[in-house]
Amino acid sequence: SIRQYAARTPKSKEAYALAREYLAGGETRSIAYHRPYPLTVRRAEGCRLYDVDGNEYVDFLGNYTSLIHGHAHPEITKRIVEAVSVGTACPAGIEDQVELGRILCERVPGIERIRFCNSGTEATMFAVRAARAFKRRDGIIKMEGGYHGTADFAEFSIAPPVDPKVKRTVFEPVPESFGIPVNAGRDLFIAPFNDLDEVENILKKHHPEIAGIIVEPVLGALGVIPPAPGYLEGLRRLADTYDVLLIFDEVQTLRVHYGGAQSKYGVTPDLTAVAKIIGGGLPVGGIGGKAEVMSVFDPLKKEHLSQSGTFNGNRATMAAGIASMELLDRGAIDRLERLSERLEAGMVKAIADNAIPATVTRVGSLLNLHFTAEKPHDYQSVLNPHFDKLPLYHLEMLRRGYFLAVRGTWALSTVMSEKEIDGAVAAFGEVMEEMRPLF
Ligand code: PMP
Repeated sequence: SIRQYAARTPKSKEAYALAREYLAGGETRSIAYHRPYPLTVRRAEGCRLYDVDGNEYVDFLGNYTSLIHGHAHPEITKRIVEAVSVGTACPAGIEDQVELGRILCERVPGIERIRFCNSGTEATMFAVRAARAFKRRDGIIKMEGGYHGTADFAEFSIAPPVDPKVKRTVFEPVPESFGIPVNAGRDLFIAPFNDLDEVENILKKHHPEIAGIIVEPVLGALGVIPPAPGYLEGLRRLADTYDVLLIFDEVQTLRVHYGGAQSKYGVTPDLTAVAKIIGGGLPVGGIGGKAEVMSVFDPLKKEHLSQSGTFNGNRATMAAGIASMELLDRGAIDRLERLSERLEAGMVKAIADNAIPATVTRVGSLLNLHFTAEKPHDYQSVLNPHFDKLPLYHLEMLRRGYFLAVRGTWALSTVMSEKEIDGAVAAFGEVMEEMRPLF
């Protein structure tokens, strides 16, 4: 199948070889690399991508879930052009920044005040820093398998090596690679996702040194793992009992409901990190929270937390973000939900028809395939014996014109219709049939 992929993409192969002459590793996003070489995309429109060989793909990844309205949406593009024609960024207030802030404060229960930055990485980094500043403590509880971007604190225990045969009970912060200072994990406490007992054990022992708990309400990068009933409520209760802050990383999950996952599950955090869809396709991040907590950033206070960035709140991003959030009204969210249900049902049927030990996890417009019959609930349960078959599945879908994440994630966009969903289900069925002998 690598052979079949290569036969369709000779120009991407050449482009990647050329890229390696100038870009370290041939690309500036490690996650975009896959064997034998990634595609080079020439243009994109709506939910379609076109590579340099002229192949067409339906884009079910949407730049890692950020393009909820697809590529080059006419309304968003128009607003960006209008914005940049009166200047791009300036170190003073602009009205659009306030307008995007107002929209997010009105939609997301845990956001009473917000500040902007340029990536989800910065958003979680500053949310954690705000919690530390507010509580005057350094400890942070993070979930194993949780992804919060690439700041030093976040690069621990995302995908630690584990022996799947041995059930672990001790969770040490494990740096993701060399280059991450081990000391950056000194104030981290790691708990498995969906395990309230472990969080309580940590808090019982260490709460006087802990500022907050950071969690994705739905573990995204790990493969769209939903919270067990009562889990998020339990974290809220523990945070209150032990006087620490609850931080939701909604960088990926804001899209699952009009007011984010916190609205869907009815649990309001003290701080919320957002990014991706709030920038309408341009680089963005936001740190939101309760007014009292967010007051740590107030320059009118003698002692405050400084947060700057040359392109924070820039005109192009703010305009694109406003357009993106306006387009994502309740009707659009409902439509995404229905399309997503249809995709899930089609995938589940294809899995059953071929008797493959696989399952689909889904929350809103995010789905993930797992090669395990039981739905995973945390990091260890995602690592199944057929985990290494995901890259083949990815290449087989790509070869049929469906662009997904290598790890199996699908993210729908509002510019899709039942036609794209049904086409994807048919291709998925073919791939399951082809892979059946491997199980
Ligand atoms: N947190 C979560 C949950 C994410 O999914 C991501 C990006 N995939 C980030 C943080 C980091 O965002 P960015 O890539 O914009 O830095």
